[in-house]
Amino acid sequence: MMTNSPTVLHPDVERVLISEADIQKRIVELAAEIDRDYEGLAPVFIGILKGSVLFLSDLLKRLSVDCRIDFMCVSSYEGDRSTGVVRLTLDLRDNIEGRDILVVEDIVDTGLTLGYLKQNLMTRKPRSLEIVSLLDKPEARKVLIEPKYRGFQIPNEFVVGYGLDFDERYRNLPYIGVLKPSTYQPQG
Ligand code: 5GP
Repeated sequence: MMTNSPTVLHPDVERVLISEADIQKRIVELAAEIDRDYEGLAPVFIGILKGSVLFLSDLLKRLSVDCRIDFMCVSSYEGDRSTGVVRLTLDLRDNIEGRDILVVEDIVDTGLTLGYLKQNLMTRKPRSLEIVSLLDKPEARKVLIEPKYRGFQIPNEFVVGYGLDFDERYRNLPYIGVLKPSTYQPQG
């Protein structure tokens, strides 16, 4: 049964940056934009695991366009994020040649991950390729990546929730929040 009870804040979360209601409202707007832009086409949404899962599923429910979904998973080499060494750990199931592609991400930070993915996907000759990202931290950018569809621009701070993790935790929070420093700083 659906309830409208207020969101209970996780004890490790210091503050909510974007509420569940604001996320859902913005997703309706993004879906309307995508429906309009892709009318008469059959785009393929590529969800980047794991962070995009909640966003992708809520976005899909709001879309009317005839669409398909597929997934990719990438990981940055441990301690090597700044060098842009990205590894593909799960590839697409289907051929995307000639298709209209929308890559769905949770957040664009340095842009290194999407820079790698875009380069990789373009070699497969899609008809078009655009990026949909729930969050954008433009201050942290190292690679020129411009999402065509962007949920929210946020300041350069570490956020969790709604798919985004810290050490694989907090992905299930329905909002975007900032953790209490005590959660990630060693005690003592
Ligand atoms: P980029 O390659 O653009 O620097 O970063 C992309 C990936 O880094 C995202 O898909 C996400 O996994 C991770 N990331 C970047 N900023 C944040 C953040 O504020 N919080 C979390 N949880 N992950 C982030």
